[in-house]
Amino acid sequence: MGKSFAVIGDPIDHSLSPNIHSAAFRELNLDSSYIGYRIPKGELESGIEGLKKIRITGFNVTIPHKIEMMKYLDKMDESCSIIGAVNTVVNNEGVFKGYNTDMDGFLEPLKKRDISIQDKKILLIGAGGAARAIVAGIAKEKAKSLDITNRTIDNANNLSEFATKIGLTAHTKKMEGVNENIKNYDIIINSTSLGLKNELSPIGFENVNQKTIVYDIVYSPMNTDFIKKAKEKKLEVIYGYEMLLGQATRAFEIWHGMKAPYNAMKKALLGGF
Ligand code: NDP
Repeated sequence: MGKSFAVIGDPIDHSLSPNIHSAAFRELNLDSSYIGYRIPKGELESGIEGLKKIRITGFNVTIPHKIEMMKYLDKMDESCSIIGAVNTVVNNEGVFKGYNTDMDGFLEPLKKRDISIQDKKILLIGAGGAARAIVAGIAKEKAKSLDITNRTIDNANNLSEFATKIGLTAHTKKMEGVNENIKNYDIIINSTSLGLKNELSPIGFENVNQKTIVYDIVYSPMNTDFIKKAKEKKLEVIYGYEMLLGQATRAFEIWHGMKAPYNAMKKALLGGF
């Protein structure tokens, strides 16, 4: 029998995951299918009962269920328990095991470029769910220091506390003061949703060091204002789609136990823009 996969969330019709995974199945001639399945907030329990009934092999979890889904897991990978959110589930005969591949997905484009995080000074803008997975990745790779800035300072403080707990030297910075010390950072990451609706970059790049790497996790549009301004300064940039691809290839490897066809998945993803 073929294997079946899905991504659950709401909204789900613009999700790129069905295209990315279907391309991988075609590339490797796998008898598998992958669909987008809308489960509205508040209907998660009955939604996943349905998935169990059809004996789904595995599924991805996206907004708004990444945290609530934790309740319905029987087992958890370390990535999932540390971050406190799940984006990938394996169904082994009714036993659900959760993973969080956003962390490895975030690290993957850096590894591809041979950029080491170790001993780097990092600025993270944003303190939402994705930021938590990023902080876990930064801690795993032992960065020298992490400054976190965010619109709501309480959220930045909470994330900073989490970062400290998992071994980082972390501090909160006020959004207004961030530009003053901006030349000190080796890597600057945008993990807010700013850009998604063509909003302006949350920071200016006038004083950024020429060696600084600029990483946006917003993947649509591909060229956000944040990325465009960094490119105008001729800084090295990492696009949000690269993280998206990283989490998808990692999920593929968990489900199928083989190396993901990166190029075929990338082509399908970029075709979606
Ligand atoms: P959350 O809703 O958990 O967090 C949103 C973050 O953006 C918070 O820090 C929030 O600040 C900030 N924010 C939202 N609106 C504004 C605004 N108008 N001005 C300033 N700050 C704002 O979302 P996620 O963390 O799940 O996702 C964030 C973004 O990352 C999304 O665009 C998502 O698509 C993208 N993403 C990309 C992935 C990839 O693989 N490339 C993976 C996961 C997410 P505050 O705390 O003040 O509300």
